[in-house]
Amino acid sequence: MRAHEAGALHGNDAAPTWLPFPTDVNALIPGLWSSTCVRDADGALEIGGVSATTLAEEVGTPAFVLDEDDFRERARAFRTAFTTAFAPHAGADVYYAGKAFLCGAVARWVDEDGLGLDVCTGGELAVALRAGFPADRMALHGNNKSDREIARALEAGVGRIVIDSLAEVRQAARVASDLGVQAHVMLRVTTGVEAHTHEFIATAHEDQKFGLSITSGDALTAVREVLASPELGLVGLHSHIGSQIFDVGGFEVAARRVLDLVAQVREELGHTIEHLDLGGGFGVMYNTQHTPSTPEDLASGIAAIIEKECHELELEVPHVAFEPGRAIAGPSTQTLYTVGTVKDVRLGGPHHRVYVSVDGGMSDNVRTALYDADYSCLLAGRVSDAPPEVVRVVGKHCESGDIVVKDEYLPADVQRGDLVSVPVTGAYCYSLASNYNHVPRPPVVAVKDGRWRTLVRRESEEDLLALDVG
Ligand SMILES: *Cc1c(COP(=O)(O)O)cnc(C)c1O
Repeated sequence: MRAHEAGALHGNDAAPTWLPFPTDVNALIPGLWSSTCVRDADGALEIGGVSATTLAEEVGTPAFVLDEDDFRERARAFRTAFTTAFAPHAGADVYYAGKAFLCGAVARWVDEDGLGLDVCTGGELAVALRAGFPADRMALHGNNKSDREIARALEAGVGRIVIDSLAEVRQAARVASDLGVQAHVMLRVTTGVEAHTHEFIATAHEDQKFGLSITSGDALTAVREVLASPELGLVGLHSHIGSQIFDVGGFEVAARRVLDLVAQVREELGHTIEHLDLGGGFGVMYNTQHTPSTPEDLASGIAAIIEKECHELELEVPHVAFEPGRAIAGPSTQTLYTVGTVKDVRLGGPHHRVYVSVDGGMSDNVRTALYDADYSCLLAGRVSDAPPEVVRVVGKHCESGDIVVKDEYLPADVQRGDLVSVPVTGAYCYSLASNYNHVPRPPVVAVKDGRWRTLVRRESEEDLLALDVG
């Protein structure tokens, strides 16, 4: 799928093979930009009715610009698609995976739009509780929960605690017993299916930190232990197979293995598992290589798979849950940067590469460095008649791997002071942001109906200095 790096080494002579030469370097590629994003009469990008130029002046750069309508439409689309597809059976819930991006406003939208919420640390739980998110529609994840995190979840009345290990079965029972409550738990099982993008790998052994292995028998042991613990109530089984998945094939193998366990639990322990959570991981379009499915196609495809497997195993279709994070948050947001240094670097012979430096970088988007992600970008403050040239958009950090967009066409007259916007930065960008080089983290502003408002304010140097108390 991925173009070999050597392709890009030809600099301006050759873009990576996957990157099409633009017919119009100013045009918005369909599917890449949030639903309200257009070019305004001045040629600037406009998101939620607010121009990128206005945002840059009033908010400053870098800034995460979140298209509120886009986020909420996606959240509702997933909820509607899955509840509709499973309406003939026991129904479905959709939980937004808060780790993709969480703040108070997002928690309130997710609540209003009828989704549940996944949190996986005490910090995420605190954000959700402060926002007034109903605890019974929350799930607490994590492979290394502290007693305190479990206790806070139980005190708040969190609907499901997703247990990740045999040790945690006993830990949750002990904490629940100390509090005199019963913990409602799911067991996260590993199916040996690992999915990313267009491929998935199905193996028998699972060399990773999450979950209880079905193959080794740990999953069945955990079910037996939960059923024997009066402090624990078994809600169901959970499986999450990976991220940025485009194909339901991975879910097919995983669902079969989990449902085999459901059948085994029924036969050996006489217990009916009523809830199945198949996790998240639905892919988004970061560039033209990616072809995400609609929520409707995902939901109907997965429903067909589960119906078939349940039929073969003579099981009732359980109540199901799904946990999209990236597919809801990712496409809603773009990052607005200001261009600084533009450098044309000779690569030997006729080859060269144009490095466009922006005022953020790996501190606000580490995905390129961490996951080899391929982002896209556009000139955001104006259109240009200059010919397209391949550039590399880099940050301001002391790290040569500080790349935001590895290869993209921008107009050849891109210069200091220009605005550049990178789409689909709503998931795993702010939530993975750091203070590397003591660069304060950007704000997150929501745009809607011609107005912007701050959801998370820009970090200041005072914020950074305030932590340094030694
Ligand atoms: C990360 C995660 C998700 C969300 O994954 P996306 O790729 O953002 O959809 C859902 N469930 C669990 C358990 C996760 O760890």
